[in-house]
Order: sequence, then C-alpha cells, then structure tokens
Amino acid sequence: MQQLLAKPVVEAVHLEVSDRVSRFKAKHGRAPGLAVVLVGDDPASVIYTTKKGQAAVAVGIHHETVEFSTQSSESEVIAAVRKLNLNPKIDGILVQRPIPKNFDAEASLYWVDPAKDVDCFHPINVGKLAAGLPGLRPCTPMGVMRILKHYGISVAGKTACVVGRSNIVGKPMAALLLEANATVLHCHSQTKDLMKLTRQAEILVVAAGKPGLVTADHVAKGAVVIDVGIHRNAAGKVCGDVDAAALAGIPSAITPVPGGVGPMTIAMLLANTVTAAEMRES
Ligand code: NAD
Repeated sequence: MQQLLAKPVVEAVHLEVSDRVSRFKAKHGRAPGLAVVLVGDDPASVIYTTKKGQAAVAVGIHHETVEFSTQSSESEVIAAVRKLNLNPKIDGILVQRPIPKNFDAEASLYWVDPAKDVDCFHPINVGKLAAGLPGLRPCTPMGVMRILKHYGISVAGKTACVVGRSNIVGKPMAALLLEANATVLHCHSQTKDLMKLTRQAEILVVAAGKPGLVTADHVAKGAVVIDVGIHRNAAGKVCGDVDAAALAGIPSAITPVPGGVGPMTIAMLLANTVTAAEMRES
C-alpha cells in the first residue's frame, strides 16, 4: 500500500511557485502579494494564519496579516477587506474562518474581490468552477488533484467517489474530479448504503469530518484512498476520516493523516496567489 506523502509534492509546488514569483518580479517589478485577515484569537486560526504568512515569505510572496480583536465590528472588518481589494500590491486575500458568530457568514462570501479570492469562496468563482470556466480553484481540493498528478495516478475515465458535500471540500472536489473526466459518485450524510457506493470507487476521497468513518468494508481492492479528514482522537493523536490501520492490504495507495492532504492546502494557497497576480497583470 503506497503512502501518498505530501512532503515531496509540497516541495515541488514550492519550487514551481518560487520560480513563478521570480519571473513575476522580473516582469512587473514587485512580488505577488497575499493578505490574511484574522478576526479574534481562536488558537487554531492564529496558528494557521502564522503558517500561511511564513510559507508566503519563504517563496518570496509579499505578505500582510491584518488582525482584529474579538470585539471588532463587522463593518470595521469589511472596510479593511475593501481597502485590500483596492490595494495594488495585494493579489490574494484570505479571510481566516471561522469568523465571529455574530457576523453574517453568507454575506462574507462576497467581501473579497473575486479576482483576489484565493480561497475560491466567492459565488462568482464557485460558478466558474461549476461552469468549467478558467479561474481560481479552491485550495484543499486542488491539493488533492495535485497529489494524484504528482504520483502519476490518472483520473480520466475512472470511477471516483467523494464522501462529503461541504462548500469548502466536498462540492469543489467532485467538480474538479468531473473536470478531470472522472465519473463521480457523490455521497453525503443522507446517502443510503454508503458502502455500496464507496466500494465502486477506483479513487475514493473522504471529507466527512467523521473520524474512522471509512473502514475495510468501504474500500475496493486496489483503490486509491484520499483522506481529507483531520481530527485529534481521545489519545491526542491526529487521525483522519479513514481507519487506515484496518485497510492494510486493500487499497493500492492512501494519503496518511497527518502528512497527506493537510500540508497541501497552504502550498496551493501560494500557487493561487501567484495565479491571481498573473491574471490581474495580464
Ligand atoms: P463539513 O462538516 O462541513 O462537511 C462534512 C460533509 O460530510 C457533509 O457534507 C456531510 O453531508 C458529510 N457527512 C457527514 N457524515 C457523513 C456520513 N456518515 N456519511 C456520509 N457523509 C457524511 O466538513 P468539511 O469542512 O468538508 O471538512 C471535512 C473534513 O476535512 C474535516 O475533518 C476537516 O477538518 C477536514 N479538512 C481538512 C482540510 C485540509 O486538509 N487542509 C481542509 C478542510 C477540511
């Protein structure tokens, strides 16, 4: 059972991004710019935004973090995002989620200029993906596609099954697999007989947010299993949605948790920032 590790894929993406950054700088006299907006002091969000900033700097991307206290008003945050939308040095803007509960989550999807929406949450970018139009693509599902590509796993003509239909992972994941010419089965919490569908998959992507949901009975012999889930179990160990230990000998390949899909998200955010910069300057 091959372990589809993120590390070599992330290294390859970083090299590519650094090269694209150098060429962008030479042509336009500035680095691509990424702004991260953080509201509040949620410990996980603070860690994620710090990591995003460090990763950007490491590949030569100009980076700014705009921080707001938990007491900040929605209108203050919107005003800051609008300023970033107009800032010529900034090509990518990311509003770290979750945002405070008293903010309008639906309205927040429209805050960032679609041309700078490196998370690909704006309905215009969601629509472009659904319509197969060129544009920015969401980071985590794009990270999954990049892992498949890196390890030479073909998608066209294969039966792929996606478990989960969130706007962040499941739906765009199914759309990207479809765009890559897979036949896509799409499962969710209301799916009857999940196992019957997952067992048909040659590529099984699990993003259900349920630790250990996928067991040996869900997986066909020789399938490629991509585990997007990230959890901390009772013993404090990081684990995924797939009970990987129980799958020994069944799939041909699997992404481990940790060290599989997780690190891809930030790598693809960097790639998206350069893509946004290139598109804005073209
Ligand atoms: P979510 O809770 O928004 O969505 C989960 C989806 O799974 C829902 O659409 C639901 O219908 C489906 N689901 C739940 N229980 C199910 C069941 N028993 N059978 C079939 N479908 C079921 O979660 P999300 O934001 O999509 O995240 C999913 C997982 O991926 C989480 O563990 C999250 O932490 C992880 N995640 C990882 C990354 C990364 O690696 N960078 C990024 C985003 C999310």
